[in-house]
Formats: sequence, structure tokens, C-alpha cells
Amino acid sequence: MPTNHTLAPLPHDDLEAVIIDYNGVIGRQPTPQMWSRLAALAGWPVEHTDAFIRAFWGNREAYDAGEISDRTFWQDLLHGGTETPRRREPLSALRKADIEMWTHTDPAVLEVLHTAHAAGLPIALLSNAPHPLAAALDDTPWCATLMYRTVYSCRIGANKPAARAFEAALAAAGHPAPGRTLFIDDRADNIQAAANLGLRTLHYQGDAADLARHLPQLEPTMGLAAPSAA
Ligand SMILES: [Mg+2]
Repeated sequence: MPTNHTLAPLPHDDLEAVIIDYNGVIGRQPTPQMWSRLAALAGWPVEHTDAFIRAFWGNREAYDAGEISDRTFWQDLLHGGTETPRRREPLSALRKADIEMWTHTDPAVLEVLHTAHAAGLPIALLSNAPHPLAAALDDTPWCATLMYRTVYSCRIGANKPAARAFEAALAAAGHPAPGRTLFIDDRADNIQAAANLGLRTLHYQGDAADLARHLPQLEPTMGLAAPSAA
């Protein structure tokens, strides 16, 4: 119950908005087993999973930016796996496995964000993601609850760290002052790009407690009696 808590005071009180990355902050990185499963679905021998991952990232920027279709992204991967794949999974199975491996969230991060949201801080998601993953993220309860707006690279035709991605996120957040907007991301190049545009930044490195120190959080109210157990 919030009755015996109050919001933490400064330094968060002048924050107007938060813009937050998805994968590597809210979303957990896929496990090696998830990569192997996806590689196998795409027809790559399990011992070639590392090569599959390199091929995956080779085309992912264009896919994230909405420049190539689902079919093109996956067909290129299928053709690169083996000359004669032993089986061809339908596009829907590959898309489903891809979504599944990117949608595991960190409950500790979500808890911190729920508290910041409860304090009235607008939070916008800014993610490099292709259309199927963007739709899946928008459909999650946490996203619907926490996010004031969501901005995905596939929908704006620009990936972070392009300035246009940050400009779109600021617009989606209601044009807060960049100097009163905190951008959170796990990638140093994205952090640097945001700082160049005058945003405050937090280079997230997996510690939800560090995130909590940068956002409004509930703290025990001093001087108030604890609720009676009676
Ligand atoms: Mg990330």
C-alpha cells in the first residue's frame, strides 16, 4: 500500500520524461539455446550457430529499419545456412521463434519502471525492432501499462543511434526539454548519440538498483508511524 510511503525527492523532480531502450534493459538477452533453436529452424547445423548469428546481425539493421520485408530477411538467412537445407520452416515459425526469444523481460526493471510511472513520469519506449516484434511488444501488458508512447525503428525508418530516432522519441514523449529527459540504453553508441542531442543519459549495465537511483522511487516516509497490525 502506498499510504506509508512518499516519493523520493530530488534529483529526479525536474525530470519531464524518460526514453528507454527495450532489449538489454527491459528485455533480457537471448540464451545460447534460443540462438541454436532459431538457427536450426532456419536450417543451419547446430555447430554453425555462431555463423548463423553473424548472418542474422548482418541483415538485421535493414530489417529493424523497415527497409526489407520479413520474407527477405528470413529467406536470406535460409539461403545462407546450407546450400541444400534439410527442411524449410514456414515464415510464421521463424517469426514466432524470433519474437519469443526477444520477449523475456526483467521483473526487477519492470518494478522500478512501474514505480516511476506511478509517480507520474511519462515513459516512452525507443527500440530498434522489426514490425512483428514491435507489434508483439505493444501487445504486452507491461507495455500497455507503462509506456506513454512506443517508437520503433521499423515504423519511423530509422535505427538508433540516428538522430532522427531520438527526435521521434522526444516528439512521442510530448516534446519534453532534452535536458530534462533521461535516455536509458545498454549500448554506448546510442548513449553518446543521445548525449550529443542534449539528453541526460544512463548507460544501463544490468543493475536494476542503478536504474532505481536515477528514477523516482517510493521511499519510507520518515516520522510517520507504521500501520497498526491490529
Ligand atoms: Mg539495447
